[in-house]
Amino acid sequence: MTYLKSLTYRMLYLVGFFIISCKDENIIKKGNAVIAIQPYRDFKQTDAQFIHQQIQKVYSQTILLPGIDLPQQAYVQIRNRYRADSLIRMLRDSRGKDTISVGLTHFDISTTKNGIPDWGVMGLGYRPGRACVISTFRLKKKNLNEQLLKVVLHEIGHTQNLPHCENQSCLMRDAEGGNPLDQEKEFCTKCKQALRQKGLLFNE
Ligand SMILES: [Zn+2]
Ligand SMILES: [Zn+2]
Repeated sequence: MTYLKSLTYRMLYLVGFFIISCKDENIIKKGNAVIAIQPYRDFKQTDAQFIHQQIQKVYSQTILLPGIDLPQQAYVQIRNRYRADSLIRMLRDSRGKDTISVGLTHFDISTTKNGIPDWGVMGLGYRPGRACVISTFRLKKKNLNEQLLKVVLHEIGHTQNLPHCENQSCLMRDAEGGNPLDQEKEFCTKCKQALRQKGLLFNE
């Protein structure tokens, strides 16, 4: 009797353990992507830490990597800018398929737009994609951190396949060559919903 009792307990324990393990596995499978904050070596450590903390609130599997050199191949000397497209490709190829890399620099970055070969931008992210890059060069100094966070969220949005949004207070608004960041408040309901489906959780 005692033997049977202890066996039952042991089996119950095993069943319980099995259920717990399955649950953990489900959680890992559901959102196995990692957002990697990748500052370049010129980027201020405290700014990178700020972005890390803020993005972690939105997506818990966010990590902060140590700074890396800006690649010389991406440098456009005549403009003193780095090619955002090249940076994105290098970031993407340097990490596994489950990682979304977010490159951060204070240098000016550019892309080809409307036939202009080195059009300066605040950030660039492919849609969809596994990497984006953000520069503080064109941001307002007085509320730099706030503006930086908005651009980071915008570019992460593009990697998650979000297009530009018509809503003028939405973070996915098209900057159209200017800096409308102070008019942007948050992701609109529609964009938030699309991000939630991708596993990025936003507070109401
Ligand atoms: Zn955009
Ligand atoms: Zn929107």
